Amino acid sequence: MLTIGAFARASRLSPKALRLYDELALLRPARVDPDNGYRYYAPGQLEQARLVAWLRRLGMPLARIREVCTLPPATAAGEIRAYWARVEAETAERRDLAGFLVDHLTTRPRKAPAMTTPLTLRYAAHSDRGRVRPVNQDTAYAGTRLLAVADGFGPDGGRASTAAVETFKALEALGETEVPAGEVLNLLEAAVRDAALAVQDAGTGAEEAGTGGAEGREEAGTTLTALLWTGSHLALVHIGDSRAYLLRDGGLFRITHDHTVVQSMIDEGRLTPEEATSHPQRTLLLNALTGTGHPTPDLHLHDAHPGDRYLLCSDGLPAVVPDAVIRTTLAAAGTPEAAVDALVGAANAAGGPDNVSCVVAEVTPAATA
Ligand code: MN
Repeated sequence: MLTIGAFARASRLSPKALRLYDELALLRPARVDPDNGYRYYAPGQLEQARLVAWLRRLGMPLARIREVCTLPPATAAGEIRAYWARVEAETAERRDLAGFLVDHLTTRPRKAPAMTTPLTLRYAAHSDRGRVRPVNQDTAYAGTRLLAVADGFGPDGGRASTAAVETFKALEALGETEVPAGEVLNLLEAAVRDAALAVQDAGTGAEEAGTGGAEGREEAGTTLTALLWTGSHLALVHIGDSRAYLLRDGGLFRITHDHTVVQSMIDEGRLTPEEATSHPQRTLLLNALTGTGHPTPDLHLHDAHPGDRYLLCSDGLPAVVPDAVIRTTLAAAGTPEAAVDALVGAANAAGGPDNVSCVVAEVTPAATA
């Protein structure tokens, strides 16, 4: 038997922690002296004590550690994996929020109106069924405030993508006034929440109409990639595997990160981008707007420069049209209309295996718009 001091040294837990774990029934001493209350531990308890110490270092709450310690190793491993996945999801969410606030605080303060040329958007949207799919479940929209692409999936996919974009169109009601950057985050967060509810309603409606069972309702959902024009900036909200690109000074930059299983495998170095294009699970989403769950969109604030061209597209475009061709097509088109027609045409010329949607917006000085 080990005294509490010896056991503490061997397990790297403090005597104070050991007393707490005893009180919480997390790690009971093997024997307590009935006369003086001294705790004694068996050498065989070291293994569990070390596990407790390591789980504490992971930041796992004590109540959860107590559960994990009662499980057989394989089940315990699964529990730790699940715990850590949630920690990472929460961290990713906070990282995006931090990024947005950094963007917000470091974008140049707007100069007095007389000092700066007001900017405006010229835009066009086009959504096409493609050459293979029986229906178009994509939704594309472009207006003075809002640009959006949504790619529905599952039996109610078309309804889901329409519901999400229709909800976001409420942002058009902001009119022509400049939206303070600090307000944008609240607006977008509320819009995402409302869109998730609308997607849920769209699923429920389908069930009433008898076109989708419980299973279908679970599966239906949509991606959503949207830009909100604040009057001087473009605020991006993104969830799923539709994409946003920026063409600036002749260079094409992808400004969204695919929320897909294969993208996370690429990030971890387990898959090359080339291998990803033919991966059987390349369309499997990690994050989307569905009726269930907690949507976690990426949010960013982008500066607008005169001459910038923004492209939003569903995966039907990049799946068959390489970035180099997207760049030259987007750069060569005379107008946003010509650009969306050429890009949708390029996807269909490459076989059009999926629905394809493109929205193009060009930032121009207001006077020449
Ligand atoms: Mn698609």
